[in-house]
Amino acid sequence: MKRILLILSLTLLTVFAAQAKLNVVATLPDFGSLAHEVGGDKIDLVVLAKPTEDPHFVDARPSFVVSLRNADVLIDGGAELELGWLPPLLQNARNPKIEIGKPGRIQASQGIRLMNVPTNVTRAAGDVHALGNPHFCVDPIIAKAIAQHIAQSFAALDAPNAAFYESNYKKFEEAINAKLQEWGAAMSPFKDQHVVAYHDSWPYFAHRFGINIDIFLEPKPGIPPSPSHLTEVIAQMKAQHVKAVIVEPYHDRRIAEKVASATGAKVVEFSQFPGGIPGTETYVKLIDTLVSRLAAALK
Ligand SMILES: [Zn+2]
Repeated sequence: MKRILLILSLTLLTVFAAQAKLNVVATLPDFGSLAHEVGGDKIDLVVLAKPTEDPHFVDARPSFVVSLRNADVLIDGGAELELGWLPPLLQNARNPKIEIGKPGRIQASQGIRLMNVPTNVTRAAGDVHALGNPHFCVDPIIAKAIAQHIAQSFAALDAPNAAFYESNYKKFEEAINAKLQEWGAAMSPFKDQHVVAYHDSWPYFAHRFGINIDIFLEPKPGIPPSPSHLTEVIAQMKAQHVKAVIVEPYHDRRIAEKVASATGAKVVEFSQFPGGIPGTETYVKLIDTLVSRLAAALK
């Protein structure tokens, strides 16, 4: 009898502990990674997009609506990166806790100055960066700010664990601070060099490390490369002695290979998301990998 009671109370305890955890949904794996750094085992985390998926065009699965319906917290970019797929899911989920302006909605872009804000909003032309560039999480200093925002929100929603979230944020902040100088030193020999990318995902990363990733295989963000545009890119690359072409897992690598072989540049596989390429399971490892891959290609 005693044993049964013990098992029963342990089961109840487990159920209670499971219920006490915040249900957190992150739209994209970078926000998910920061939520994990801060929330650890005190949250139940669901990340909607895979790290190898194009964040602009994520395949929505029925389970997404269920996760959003059950969420206590939703972390999204807030800068239209998920414009093509998130709004209908939110409409179907009908969860007032994660509406914009509620404590359960964390918009990562809050307080962040977007780069390349167009003077005219050009959504009609197919440009998927109409509000400004939404790929800001690959700047480690911006990532710290987002992690802090997440920690403050988790603490407000789950006061008993506030100190835990705060101390995890501090650990993340220290890990980034300890690395910034090393990353900067690795990139400093290539200051002001121009680099080509398939998609305009890297202005924040480039700005942080003093390089220019400012020539793109896409004629506009979200518009596939055309032969005439690629001819222009090749001419620009030759004129500026470009040594590297960045592709992400969901891009057509053959197009990058063609452009690279016409100019003597190297193709470098990058990911803006932890887990998108090997050896990048954490945010710090992701930036480590990006810096070392790019430095190797530019040498
Ligand atoms: Zn984009």
